[in-house]
Amino acid sequence: MWLLPWTTTFLWCVIDSFGRERKSLATTTNAAYVRAMNGVIYLHRRDLRLEDNRSLVAAAEMAEESGGWLLLLALWDPKDDAVVRETSSPRLGPGYRRYWRESVDELADTYRELGQHLVRATATAADAVSLIKQQFAPHEEITVVTPRVPGTEEANSLREISACTGIPVVTPDSTTLLAIEDVPGTFSSFRNKVERDSLAVPAPTQRPEHLPPPPPWATELGELLPSVVAVTPGPPRATLSESPSAGGRSTAIARLRDFVWDSGALRTYKETRNGLLGTHFSSRLSAPLAHGTLSAREVWQEVKANEDQLGPNESTYWLGFELLWRDFFHFQAYAWGDRFFSYSGYGSHARPLAPRGLSTGPADPQVFHRWITGTTGDALVDAAMREIAATGFMSNRARQNAASALIYDLRQPWWTGAAYFEHALTDYDPASNWGNWAYIAGVGADSRGGRHFDTARQAELYDNNGEYRRFWSSV
Ligand SMILES: Cc1cc2nc3c(=O)[nH]c(=O)nc-3n(C[C@H](O)[C@H](O)[C@H](O)COP(=O)(O)OP(=O)(O)OC[C@H]3O[C@@H](n4cnc5c(N)ncnc54)[C@H](O)[C@@H]3O)c2cc1C
Repeated sequence: MWLLPWTTTFLWCVIDSFGRERKSLATTTNAAYVRAMNGVIYLHRRDLRLEDNRSLVAAAEMAEESGGWLLLLALWDPKDDAVVRETSSPRLGPGYRRYWRESVDELADTYRELGQHLVRATATAADAVSLIKQQFAPHEEITVVTPRVPGTEEANSLREISACTGIPVVTPDSTTLLAIEDVPGTFSSFRNKVERDSLAVPAPTQRPEHLPPPPPWATELGELLPSVVAVTPGPPRATLSESPSAGGRSTAIARLRDFVWDSGALRTYKETRNGLLGTHFSSRLSAPLAHGTLSAREVWQEVKANEDQLGPNESTYWLGFELLWRDFFHFQAYAWGDRFFSYSGYGSHARPLAPRGLSTGPADPQVFHRWITGTTGDALVDAAMREIAATGFMSNRARQNAASALIYDLRQPWWTGAAYFEHALTDYDPASNWGNWAYIAGVGADSRGGRHFDTARQAELYDNNGEYRRFWSSV
């Protein structure tokens, strides 16, 4: 979620950053195209893989059928580097960026082996497509294909493509387990619907064996667009809590195998999932799923394979249950659009904050700074905030406590916390992050009206020997 209004300037699709004359590209939208050859631009977003990628397959088929080219793009949006007012930090931080860059680089290698070329650049989608239309393919009939992903600004960036160039954008589903349009308002009714209707998760699809060729100017386009900035390594990651956050498909697959098979951690997940410190109490597949180096269906299939071999148990069920939470928030985000991110909430649980004693903003900079830097004086919350700053990861239990403390104990606006998580998390996912924050604040999909955790009691329950708090107190 971007918290600053910046879209208007981009409706010009200014390309002077490429050293050309500043002009409105909207003037080209009604040009009479001479149809020389069809082309499909495939824009990777949260789907940095070839396997089980329905939208990529759709793009390849469209290009194949028309005998045209397939241009593959992976863009870092410069707007994600702009400083967000609420946090005084860039929208997306170093952990997310590093994971993205490593994943995109590995993806480019894979495409090279298949005789294709992935153009990696820093540009808005509208600027890149406008440049293509103007410079390389003025008379060609082009379609943009990209997976459907949640997020207001993510949707706006696609609208900008059409507004600037007139090129249609197609967004097949590619990121969820299921395909549900009519999503109930609470998770339990959603889960009941899935279980009552025996909705089956389709098997993942294979990676395409052949891809249509890139256009002859693909490499030149990559040279013209601003390159993807190098990623500087973040602070050293603490061993005990180290998140397997190296990007790329191969690391994601290795982690999936390790969690499901080699370590046996899946088989005890139900008992360990509230852990705070360590590497195997939960799957650590959130970054692969958020960036799409793995698909949810691939994880589901691996869990089912484990059940087939060793029998189902509560833990294997529970991992699938958590993946359904992910689906639920994605469908909620699609269903509610902009309102999903609204401060007073969405759906039947939207409500004013002030009568509940919750902050309507702005944040108190000093209090907020104490929360971010892990210096609130609440050792459990401080450990969690130090962990996220150092590693880009925090367990689900720690996220719930850190969020509850900001909202109910420190009385700060919930969306400033959500914006900070958006910046700090390597696994940032708009639907999961904003959906969970709204849920805890009691303005989302929670019929209980919010979740205020007693952090002292939580510490007793989940960090009884103080190991987690001690570990992070010295960082
Ligand atoms: C305030 C808050 C913010 C969050 N922000 C994000 C976010 O930006 N990105 C993100 O992927 N998750 C987010 N979560 C959900 C959850 O905390 C993480 O997915 C989980 O901790 C990641 O660790 P894991 O992969 O080991 O999870 P596991 O426990 O192994 O779960 C397996 C997968 O299920 C999904 N999942 C699990 N719990 C949830 C949940 N509550 N909501 C949605 N999906 C879930 C994730 O894809 C996860 O990788 C947030 C939760 C809270 C309370």
